[in-house]
Amino acid sequence: MSPVAAGSGPYNATSPYWLDGAAPLAPELEGSVTADVVVVGAGVCGASVAWALAQAGVQVAWVEARGVSEGASGRNAGFVLQGTCERYSRAVGLMGRERARAVHQASRDNHLAMATVIEELGLECGYMRRGSLQLAGSEQEEGELLESAAMLREDGFSAEVRAGEGLDELYQQAGFRVGVHIADDGELDPARFVRGVAQAAVGRGVRLFERSPVLEIAAPSPGEAYVRTARGEVRAQLVLVCTNAYAGEIIPWYADKVDPVRGQMLATAPAPPMFSSPVYADHGYDYWRQDEAGRVVLGGWRNLDVAGEKGTAEVLHAGIQERMGAFLERFPGMRGVPITHRWSGTMGFSRDGLPIVGAVPGLPGALGAVGFTGHGFGFAWVCGQALVELSLQGTSEIADRFSSRRFVG
Ligand SMILES: Cc1cc2nc3c(=O)[nH]c(=O)nc-3n(C[C@H](O)[C@H](O)[C@H](O)COP(=O)(O)OP(=O)(O)OC[C@H]3O[C@@H](n4cnc5c(N)ncnc54)[C@H](O)[C@@H]3O)c2cc1C
Repeated sequence: MSPVAAGSGPYNATSPYWLDGAAPLAPELEGSVTADVVVVGAGVCGASVAWALAQAGVQVAWVEARGVSEGASGRNAGFVLQGTCERYSRAVGLMGRERARAVHQASRDNHLAMATVIEELGLECGYMRRGSLQLAGSEQEEGELLESAAMLREDGFSAEVRAGEGLDELYQQAGFRVGVHIADDGELDPARFVRGVAQAAVGRGVRLFERSPVLEIAAPSPGEAYVRTARGEVRAQLVLVCTNAYAGEIIPWYADKVDPVRGQMLATAPAPPMFSSPVYADHGYDYWRQDEAGRVVLGGWRNLDVAGEKGTAEVLHAGIQERMGAFLERFPGMRGVPITHRWSGTMGFSRDGLPIVGAVPGLPGALGAVGFTGHGFGFAWVCGQALVELSLQGTSEIADRFSSRRFVG
């Protein structure tokens, strides 16, 4: 199996379903601009930063290479899950019980903070809090899920086992036997969320520039920052880097710490109501949900070609797309429902699976929050807020938890 360039091969790439008809929000950066802070990257992380800075009355220039949420933030599945992409028992094995619990709690705080801003701004972004369902695809995974559920409950989180008759018939018919329902997970239209926050930030005075790739970042000392684009530049006291998967392209320090990893997605035409919450199967490699309009959005299957699904090219992978379409056929109600959209996006996987927040070695006038490892809607909002706390107060609990210092020396 091999990746197929967008627009060629058996499948044509469309724009991501979430970005259908999305109009530009801002002009390109031209000429010289000054600000207190310059933010680079306009996904969910940059939006969190821009909004928090705007509320604090800081003068912000916000520079995005493409359009707002045209990176991973407008190309994902819109799950707002708790935890990292590892099942809880594996997370505990990797980082220890206390740290795993604290990381898990951080993602719950992230969800709560996003829900609060959705309410405060009245964002119409299809936000629902229907929980999520984790499904086991093998006996080994069943054991892992049950162990994770028990550990989650011991640590004060909710996790309800659904097995045998307790598992929805829909999933039993599709070959699953064990599931775990996490009651307080959520879902949303990720692009409408990020674009809504961006518009609110612009309304509070943030100067947003789209179609303006940053070509150079200089931040030689604290209080001194400069970014340059093809037709403009920003001088500020601080640069905040929110470029996730692309971080290593402009800042070499990130290049061996954040790996760009591709994820495939598709969306169908509206189908009868079937999936009552987001579903995460096969260790989180496969995921799908049905949105308010009845469209099923499905993605993943990256484990079919881990080596091939690397890099930042937003190409379709014919073999994976085919397998995703075939999987839908396992649900009788999905047979014959047309697939209307196929796209891919780029995640930024950190080497230890956790976000990297704070100082950028070699750039004293910069801070960054990157490396969300496939769960940016579980962590990036609070990590963005942590960047702002670090910028304005010099300390942040979340930044300490995910500090970039763990990769230094
Ligand atoms: C297929 C897929 C499915 C996913 N599903 C989920 C999910 O359901 N739930 C979940 O929590 N996470 C999911 N993720 C991951 C999630 O989308 C990301 O973790 C999250 O969007 C990262 O947000 P961000 O703002 O850090 O990065 P991005 O959204 O990628 O934003 C970074 C921005 O920086 C810009 N940029 C890069 N370089 C420059 C430059 N030189 N100058 C200016 N701008 C620049 C980019 O254009 C981009 O817009 C998924 C990702 C993919 C690809």
